[in-house]
Amino acid sequence: MDEGSHASRIAAERVVAQERMTRLEQQLVELRALRRGESDDDEHDPDGVPLSEEWSRLEGLREAAARAIVELDAAADAVARGEAPRCVRCGAPIPAGRLAVRPQARTCVACAA
Ligand SMILES: [Zn+2]
Repeated sequence: MDEGSHASRIAAERVVAQERMTRLEQQLVELRALRRGESDDDEHDPDGVPLSEEWSRLEGLREAAARAIVELDAAADAVARGEAPRCVRCGAPIPAGRLAVRPQARTCVACAA
């Protein structure tokens, strides 16, 4: 894979991850406001899903997005240093096809399995 397209894939993926995180943070803010209004009746939400459960779900997604951003930044740094993406476990070059799907991949397909 040529370096330029790998770098632009990382940049594009980072924009997506950043947007996802911004959206999730917004949802968490809204949920926090909702919970404050509900006092301690949290587990008796007539709509089904307790707010605390929804909170855990959103928080988990936010953490995943934050982690993806860190990984993408690391991948961008590696490209900037002119390093070919290599598996951190076995040192094999990471196939272009895998990088196309997951530009921040740090392991080859075999090691990721
Ligand atoms: Zn490997």
